[in-house]
Amino acid sequence: MLQFLKELPKVELHAHLNGSLGMDSLCELAERLYGSASEEFSQLCARFTRFDKDSDLDACFEKFAFVHELTSTEEGLRYATELVVREFARDNVQYVELRTTPKANKSYTRREYLQHVIDAIGEARKTYPDILVKLLPSINRAEPVAVAEETVSLALEFAQSHPDLILGIDLSGNPGKGTFSDFVPILSLAREKGLKLVLHCAEIENPAEIKEMLNFGMSRCGHGTFLTPEDIELLKSRNIPIECCLTSNVKSGTVHSLEEHHLKRLMEADAPKVICTDDSGVFDTTLTQEFLLAKQTFGLTRDQCVSLTLEAVQHSFATVEERQSMATKVKNYMDSLQK
Ligand SMILES: [Zn+2]
Repeated sequence: MLQFLKELPKVELHAHLNGSLGMDSLCELAERLYGSASEEFSQLCARFTRFDKDSDLDACFEKFAFVHELTSTEEGLRYATELVVREFARDNVQYVELRTTPKANKSYTRREYLQHVIDAIGEARKTYPDILVKLLPSINRAEPVAVAEETVSLALEFAQSHPDLILGIDLSGNPGKGTFSDFVPILSLAREKGLKLVLHCAEIENPAEIKEMLNFGMSRCGHGTFLTPEDIELLKSRNIPIECCLTSNVKSGTVHSLEEHHLKRLMEADAPKVICTDDSGVFDTTLTQEFLLAKQTFGLTRDQCVSLTLEAVQHSFATVEERQSMATKVKNYMDSLQK
């Protein structure tokens, strides 16, 4: 089954750029930025060792801080983006929608941040032509609304110049911070102007906000951990899929164990759903691994894994032609196994 899942041409719809760098890539990035003989590199390696032994939540947060450090320059950001595409390509992901919050620091503005990421995706596609990459700029709900307005304005501008790459806006960040209603005007504007919306929703128990988000609407629901059966029925009636990230939810503590993951309830309700990694590097997983966990925990069969992949194809923001081509790749893979 592992081999089958590894070779399946998979589709990843919920992946944050900065969280998707695995240990090997992080080491490679640090080596490239600092040189293997430098003092900085030795110190970084000492910190890496801790992650191998210890993957508690603190270690995960430290990994995030680490990635932000390494991507705080143009070179770091560009190379990290290329490495993330490589990570997914190596796991035989044929399509990935990457999300990232444009950041500003002394090396780049938010506009330059997005430009660097776009350029790096272009470069990576030359090296890994078998993977199709799309980009969803993220609004961090913990930041002021003014920053969200800048992000949407940049997303709209870049969507004009790169209509095949920038397709939507993500709302993410610490779900305990910020107020959803504050972002409604700018999210509405983004939607009116043609951007799709993916919202991290029901990550924590907050019934009032969950209702507000569901009323507002979205193209896909990130996590959906605390959705009620009625909420799930509502999403089902609107054909809005829930992006399930098993390892991420368990490691970050919003779900106590794999067995208790809401993927089970979504399967029982026959609600639209997709399996995703969220932050494969930080949580030390891959899309193959997530399917394998779903199989081991909930007894997913090969056919169900294929159906989930085809479901992800349909819920992706790719064009009709791109979706057809993705489905064909899955079909050809299945046909090749019959021979
Ligand atoms: Zn996420």
